[in-house]
Amino acid sequence: MNFELPPELLELQAKTRSFIAEQVIPLENDERQNSHGPSEALRRELVERARVAGLLTPHVSRDMGGLGLSHVAKAVVFEEAGYSWLGPTALNIHAPDEGNMHLMEAVASAAQKERWLRPQAAGQTRSCFAMTEPSPGSGSDPSMLATTAVRDGEDYVINGTKWFITGAEDAHYAIVMAKMEDGAATMFLTDMDRDGIVLARNMDAMDRCFTGGHGVLRFTDVRVPATDILGEPGKGFRYAQVRLAPARLTHCMRWLGQARRAHDLAVDYARRREAFGKPLAEHEGVGFMLADNDMDLQTSRLHIWHTAWLLDQGQKCNFESSRAKVVCSEAQWRVVDRCVQILGGQGVTAETPVMRIFTDMRAFRIYDGPSEVHRWSMARKIVRAAQAS
Ligand SMILES: Cc1cc2nc3c(=O)[nH]c(=O)nc-3n(C[C@H](O)[C@H](O)[C@H](O)COP(=O)(O)OP(=O)(O)OC[C@H]3O[C@@H](n4cnc5c(N)ncnc54)[C@H](O)[C@@H]3O)c2cc1C
Repeated sequence: MNFELPPELLELQAKTRSFIAEQVIPLENDERQNSHGPSEALRRELVERARVAGLLTPHVSRDMGGLGLSHVAKAVVFEEAGYSWLGPTALNIHAPDEGNMHLMEAVASAAQKERWLRPQAAGQTRSCFAMTEPSPGSGSDPSMLATTAVRDGEDYVINGTKWFITGAEDAHYAIVMAKMEDGAATMFLTDMDRDGIVLARNMDAMDRCFTGGHGVLRFTDVRVPATDILGEPGKGFRYAQVRLAPARLTHCMRWLGQARRAHDLAVDYARRREAFGKPLAEHEGVGFMLADNDMDLQTSRLHIWHTAWLLDQGQKCNFESSRAKVVCSEAQWRVVDRCVQILGGQGVTAETPVMRIFTDMRAFRIYDGPSEVHRWSMARKIVRAAQAS
């Protein structure tokens, strides 16, 4: 396998790296952020900077204003963008918008794309993806979907509660998963200002890197025209896979950038800070942590690149994306945890970005499927394949 990147991709990588260093990192301590993420004003400024740099929404097609990046190219660019917690917001490649745009390009009608996708790709609007529900509704087990969509004339009437909905506050539209009368799951598109949609509250969370935070959304008799179904009725779970396999992987890419940033800071500190007569890095205990970091970072990158390459070959990669998600979320977490340790007291304070990366990253082992659920699903596939052979 040839790991050499083509010259145009190397150029894009270098361009993204400089953009993040010069235009994004200086805004990391901007006051227009709170515990629920960057404000809309800050997001717009970041997006404008990326637009001027020619880096906005690079993953969507050229027709939609992007660069039409392959999955492998995304792996390279998203890692660079992820070096700053504001980078994915700037490039308009953060969750949930990045995954939603991918799904919209794959499934939405031409009219739906013009109405919702085009302004989103231009960075003018945001979206959310509403699937998870409080008990007894869907969580790790999506089949427990409790939100209902009942046909009434030319419309569907949606009722239910969703929570953990990233970016819900001030999102312009939502993709809502609901159960039809025959029990089949369907995805609906709806503007967020439609009657009956209420953001009950924003949940206080460990992370603060997603614009709009994580909201609790109530849908009460929300009337959605049948024409606003995304794709075909009853194919909600299939489309969830269309969205989730690549979306899981793009989380891995962005968080790899954050883990690399933490590692770079830890290396720098370990080289400069002395204890017991020599730099920390020359103490075996610290040096081994740096070596372990490097191994975890490279293992993550290889899983990402391999799965991205398979996606580019047209494979669905449900198994591989589960595997990459578990490997990356756990390896990258270990990296950042070691960095906290290497930085000593500063590691648990806001003196360096590492504390922030540590708290922002924790949820990665839970959303888009907890590690246990991916292991369980992989185990079933492994056993099934063995039985079939
Ligand atoms: C920061 C954040 C952002 C999110 N954003 C969104 C969003 O934008 N849209 C959206 O729809 N959802 C979102 N989610 C929800 C997320 O996808 C769910 O939290 C996740 O799927 C787990 O569901 P749950 O929280 O209901 O956990 P539960 O289903 O209650 O599971 C709890 C725990 O049980 C264990 N478990 C479950 N099943 C198994 C099994 N088969 N084997 C072994 N152990 C198991 C796991 O350890 C799991 O963590 C987000 C969550 C977080 C934390």
